[in-house]
Amino acid sequence: MSVRLKGVSKTFGRVEALRDVDLRLEKGEVVGILGPNGSGKSTLLKLIAGLLLPDSGEVEVLGSPPRRLRGRIAYLPEVPFLPSWMGPREVERFMKGLFPRFRRERFWELVTALGIPPRPVRSLSKGQIQRLELAAVLAQEVEIYLLDEPLGGIDIVSRERILSSLIQAWRREATFILSTHAIAETETLWDRVVFLKEGRVILDRMAEDLRAEGKSVRGAYLEVFRREDALLV
Ligand code: ADP
Ligand code: MG
Repeated sequence: MSVRLKGVSKTFGRVEALRDVDLRLEKGEVVGILGPNGSGKSTLLKLIAGLLLPDSGEVEVLGSPPRRLRGRIAYLPEVPFLPSWMGPREVERFMKGLFPRFRRERFWELVTALGIPPRPVRSLSKGQIQRLELAAVLAQEVEIYLLDEPLGGIDIVSRERILSSLIQAWRREATFILSTHAIAETETLWDRVVFLKEGRVILDRMAEDLRAEGKSVRGAYLEVFRREDALLV
């Protein structure tokens, strides 16, 4: 098993960001953490990345507490992390210096596949910056990828290319955990979907099983979140 959460809760002041979350994610799965803004997705990813500790409960990644796994988890934060003066060449040097599992060839393959121009961040569009950051993170050859809202701001045509980059890496038997509040065009991506609502897991299913019941991920999402979130989908 690659990720296990048992009875995990996390509060910030009076906000209960996660409440009693149990989760088991298997090696090789592409997992969608889905839910509206504020439902706890980013908190969940940070706990798995070892950037936050739970108030109660346990988080185990590849059989250890995530803090012991430095460099074995690739994490794309929700907020931009590259300085404005960096272009792809500088990003290569920066990532290589920080992460021993960063693979240069894989980075340049991704830069090409994602159509990222050789210019500094300050002269790239929002979508191009997100793709450059995604390339930097996916170029790490690790067993766990945590991608927080990797599809936001990226148009649907580029999404196709991004998804195929993901699947290419997925063949290496890694676990991909992606959060998103915008599930359009992602139907075929997921092996497993986990719906979060107000910090609780309200659905945890294999996408295949949903389909066997004649449901789509999007349909199930709309059923659960129809009132509050229909406009975001
Ligand atoms: P999502 O990623 O699904 O939008 P988050 O995990 O970012 O949700 O946030 C869940 C809840 O926890 C929200 O109510 C948010 O305001 C709150 N929260 C998250 N991080 C912090 C923090 N560092 N300090 C205070 N409140 C936080
Ligand atoms: Mg978030």
